[in-house]
Amino acid sequence: MPIRVLDPKTIARIAAGEVIERPASVVKELVENALDAGATQVTIETRGGGVSYIRVIDNGAGIAHEDAETAFARHATSKLNRIEDLESLATLGFRGEALPSIAAVAEVDLATSHNGSEGGDYVSLREGDIATHTSLARPRGTTVTVKNLFRSLPARLKFLKSVPTENSHIARTVSQAALACPEVKFTLLMEGRAALQTPGSGRVLDSIIEVYGLETAQHMVEIAGTEADRDLPAAPPELRQAGALRVSGLVSSPVISRSGRDGLAFFVNRRVIASRLLTAAVEEAYTGLLMQGRHPVAVLSIAVPPGQVDVNVHPAKSEVKFQDERGVFTAVQRAVRAALVNLAPVPRIEEAAAVYQGSRPAAGAPLPFFPERQMTSAAAALPAARPGLPPLRVIGQVASSYIVAEGPEGLYVIDQHAAHERVLYERVRAQRAGQKTEVQGLLSPATLEVTPAQDAVLRTALDELNALGFGIEPFGERTYLVRTVPAALRESDWLPAVREFLDDPLRRDPERAEAIIKTIACHGAVRAGQSLTDDAMRALLRQLEQADSPFTCPHGRPTLIHLGLRQLEREFGRT
Ligand code: ADP
Ligand code: MG
Repeated sequence: MPIRVLDPKTIARIAAGEVIERPASVVKELVENALDAGATQVTIETRGGGVSYIRVIDNGAGIAHEDAETAFARHATSKLNRIEDLESLATLGFRGEALPSIAAVAEVDLATSHNGSEGGDYVSLREGDIATHTSLARPRGTTVTVKNLFRSLPARLKFLKSVPTENSHIARTVSQAALACPEVKFTLLMEGRAALQTPGSGRVLDSIIEVYGLETAQHMVEIAGTEADRDLPAAPPELRQAGALRVSGLVSSPVISRSGRDGLAFFVNRRVIASRLLTAAVEEAYTGLLMQGRHPVAVLSIAVPPGQVDVNVHPAKSEVKFQDERGVFTAVQRAVRAALVNLAPVPRIEEAAAVYQGSRPAAGAPLPFFPERQMTSAAAALPAARPGLPPLRVIGQVASSYIVAEGPEGLYVIDQHAAHERVLYERVRAQRAGQKTEVQGLLSPATLEVTPAQDAVLRTALDELNALGFGIEPFGERTYLVRTVPAALRESDWLPAVREFLDDPLRRDPERAEAIIKTIACHGAVRAGQSLTDDAMRALLRQLEQADSPFTCPHGRPTLIHLGLRQLEREFGRT
């Protein structure tokens, strides 16, 4: 075939394919134009998955009479004069490609008015050419109607998915715009049904309620923006500079998560973008907080001087390139992490010390590790609210006995046995209180032979033991049959636990049940010296976070030691 220059219509259609991939691309471009025009209300109506009909109505600035046709010329834009203008770009559009591209692959009608009272323009295009241009009366703003998308591009039409799939792409496009611009009131009508309506209150959370629902919204945590950067002593100076880069938005608490990444929304200067860099930064911040394969919900806005980001790197403008990728990554990761660790009140070492000091035999005795400093303020009164444990990120294990974790403001060292003991103790107690004791059946019933002294204790404690999950029944002379044991105990642990209880002087204590529960917890808990997988450590910390009294084991010993950032700074002579 000889080389020939393509005719303009074919060129236009090929070029349009770059920008308009599917109906949702039309919606995205038209919504961007509405936002660039300063609209405070944007209504989107679609039918047939957007293939048969898309209409976007805005109350923005409108198009002047003399520009109404030019708007459809290729590379005609009111947003850019010279390439240098990209350095200070404040709009979403800049290439002047959207309207001509849409007109090349669909029937387009435009109704617009620049200053409502003096009337406006109606322009219709067929096969990319102006078919009608008349005047009309309408309020200020613009309505663009797009019909029969890709009718002239059968190849593209064939590759579209089902109506529900195209609708879900449209819904996602509008949802993201609504999250990016909470001050704009969005209405989305699909196939005649209201799919989304945001109040335009200016609060991102209100958009989140509409997009993700109340349940998710209730678990969203606000990012402290530049504040977070300033508070973090390690933030590099360029990030602490006011105005250089600002991260804001909301992220989900680890209580909720999703199986996919569809809950991640990123905006750079209000532009909706996809970004592996930002995805990685957010997920990094959740390290140790979410189970593997689970993903958070995040609505993140990044404000950065236009000169520091290249928006001209993707045909659909849905990716950007940051000048300082590392700086952005760090800022986002830190801001999100800071929001997450601020979720729970921060237990300082003083508080932890105060909690367990009361139950220690000698009040003045030094506490393990860093003794002096802890004791100086250990007398501080307990806060009225129950002190919770913040989310902790597992770093590793020391001596197969201690879990080292990162948390708000520093380092936490957790005694794995004491921590697990606390978790099991509360679990067994709660089960007993709710009469929902979890038991496990032994593979085959075991016989238990006891001394006369133990026998005496056992007889009186049988009911209590049964209530806690020990299925023990008399089986002759000082012999008992054991069929079940509490689920908190492993098969190999139950016998030593029972024996310890029967031999324990506490057996006559009126608080016998309490003593049995403590014994169960102690024997069921992981031992010191037992190496744990990362998942096991994470699971244990998650459980400890949920505990009512996470700072002490049932015997009153500490479960964790906190070495705060301030303390680290002092120890290293930084202050
Ligand atoms: P771009 O947005 O890149 O400038 P478009 O092809 O999307 O290119 O739009 C061309 C021009 O038409 C815009 O620069 C703008 O001046 C005008 N325009 C398009 N849509 C609207 C609208 N909804 N309200 C006001 N002006 C609009
Ligand atoms: Mg545009």
